[in-house]
Amino acid sequence: MIPSKNLSEIKIMQEGGKILRETLLYLESRAVAGMSLLEIDRLASDFILKNNAKPSFLGYENFPKSICTSVNDVVVHGIPNEYTLKDGDIISVDAGVFYKGFHTDSAITFSIGKIDKGARALIDVTKQALAGSIGLIRPGIRLGDISFFIQDYVEKRGFGIVRELVGHGIGRKIHEPPQIPNYGKKGSGIMLNEGMVLAIEPMVTEGDYHIKMSDDGWGIETKDGKLAAHFEHTIAVVKNGSIILT
Ligand code: MG
Ligand code: MG
Repeated sequence: MIPSKNLSEIKIMQEGGKILRETLLYLESRAVAGMSLLEIDRLASDFILKNNAKPSFLGYENFPKSICTSVNDVVVHGIPNEYTLKDGDIISVDAGVFYKGFHTDSAITFSIGKIDKGARALIDVTKQALAGSIGLIRPGIRLGDISFFIQDYVEKRGFGIVRELVGHGIGRKIHEPPQIPNYGKKGSGIMLNEGMVLAIEPMVTEGDYHIKMSDDGWGIETKDGKLAAHFEHTIAVVKNGSIILT
C-alpha cells in the first residue's frame, strides 16, 4: 500500500522541501578546505532548527548526526566525523527535513576546490541522470521506466550504478513504499498515480558498482576505492506531471 498525498499535504511537503533545498545550498556555499564534517553537521542542524523544522535523520535507526556526509569513495550514509575537507575532495551531503508532520529527503554532491575532469564528469552524469528521470514522471508511467532511464544513462557514459541501495516513497515516514531501484526494465513495476511522493536517488560510481560497509558501521563505500556521487530529490506525482519539492 503506497500512501497517497492530497494537494494540501503536498503543499506542506513543498514548504519543508524549500527549507531542505536552502539547507543544502547553504552548506555548499559554506563548505571549504579545512572545515570538518562535524562543523558541516552543526551548520546543517542550526539552519534546519532555525527554520522551525527538524533534521529527519537524527536518531533514525539510532543514526547519531543530523545529516550524512559522504566523502570521495564513500557513496552514502557517512557519519559526520572529525575528517577535515581537503582541496580536491568531492562530498555528498544527504539531508532530510521533518516539517509539519512530513519528511522530505534530498542530496547533492559538490567539490572542494579544484577537482579533475573524471570527478567532474561523475558529478555531472549523476545530476543529469536524476534530472532526466524526473522529466519522465507523470501519472501512468511505470516505476521501471525511471529505473531503466537512470541505469541506461549512467552506464552509457561509462559509470557504474549501485544496486543494493534504492530510492523510496516518502511522506509521514522518511521511508515508505515503493522501493525505487536505480536499475531495471522499461515498462516493469507499479504504475505511478497522482498523489504519490517519491525520493529518487541515483548513486553512481567512477569504477565498479560494488560496495562495502565503512568501519563506522553506517557508511557505504565503493569496494574498489574509486569515487562515488549521489543526488536525490523528493518529487510529487501530480495531474499533469510532477513537482520537484526539494
Ligand atoms: Mg537522502
Ligand atoms: Mg532517500
